[in-house]
Amino acid sequence: MEDLLKRLVDSASISGYEKNIRDLISKEIKPYVDEIKIDKIGNLICKKGSGSPKVMLTAHMDEVGLMVKYIDDDGFIKFEPVGGWDPKVLLSQKFKIHGTKGPVIGVIGSKPIHLQDREDVNKVVKLNDMFIDIGAKNKKEVAAIGIRLGDFITIYGEFNKLNGSRITAHGFDDRLGCLVMIEVMKNLKKFKGTVYAVGTVKEEIGLVGVRGSAFSINPDVVISLDTTTCGDTPELKPYEAPARMGLGPVLVVKDAISIIQSEMKEWVEDVAKKNKIKIQFDILSGGATDASVTPMIREGIPSIAILTPSRYLHTPTEVADMNDVKNAVTLVTELVKSASTSI
Ligand SMILES: [Zn+2]
Repeated sequence: MEDLLKRLVDSASISGYEKNIRDLISKEIKPYVDEIKIDKIGNLICKKGSGSPKVMLTAHMDEVGLMVKYIDDDGFIKFEPVGGWDPKVLLSQKFKIHGTKGPVIGVIGSKPIHLQDREDVNKVVKLNDMFIDIGAKNKKEVAAIGIRLGDFITIYGEFNKLNGSRITAHGFDDRLGCLVMIEVMKNLKKFKGTVYAVGTVKEEIGLVGVRGSAFSINPDVVISLDTTTCGDTPELKPYEAPARMGLGPVLVVKDAISIIQSEMKEWVEDVAKKNKIKIQFDILSGGATDASVTPMIREGIPSIAILTPSRYLHTPTEVADMNDVKNAVTLVTELVKSASTSI
């Protein structure tokens, strides 16, 4: 599982440029599904089984990133954020710009401490004031390397193991969801009905891909697989983010734009209890998932979101626990298996 996660992390993909990870998921999932197609806006739709009930799993394939906005005469690159970024985590980081001649490494430069006055030290540098330095001497050199306005930019970093079952990398949001989805499809040998594994596009810029795919599949239930913040680090008060790393997969009961249906909550609690899987509840005050919008599609498609707790979301150094990932795989596998009797 960790090897596959490493490859998912390494497949550079941001909103609108999901091709790399879509190719990888497609290749990995192929032996375990009956049919694979890509819809008109780029969602990956994998189908297994036939008839009712129809269960749709989703994991978004995009990761937050940046986009080339302007190249100045001295060869410095200004950028536009794609998805939600805290400017504080961008300074002094390495990035890959995906130009026409292949990826180019660049750094977001910052003023050395030697040149900062007291005010500078306490100031947060705005995204608009940042730039990427690829080592080019001028605009012409940047063009010659194959970089143009609109090229996508991803975090340059690698997957590492930390202590015990803990791991770190960029893009766990939502590579962990993609991993859970693939592993659930591998697990599903006997079940009644149809299971769709859908890799959605453009989640980070407004839950875009799930809407059309849920409309066309018209499932009985949607299970979205994603990540959530945890309030178990020194800078957070415990009540600011209820989930804890290592305490199991998380069921979202409320987020910024939706609230769970009581029958759905009972179903998940019941399956977790029967299979002795510890789960946590979460309230996402400032976020949403693909599952948030499907009750507003067609006559209303019931949904739940099962999330893996992850520290430092939307930074180059997210941290998670493989045990939570494994328990999410077990829980979602059992949910799909139980769907034929519970829905
Ligand atoms: Zn996400």
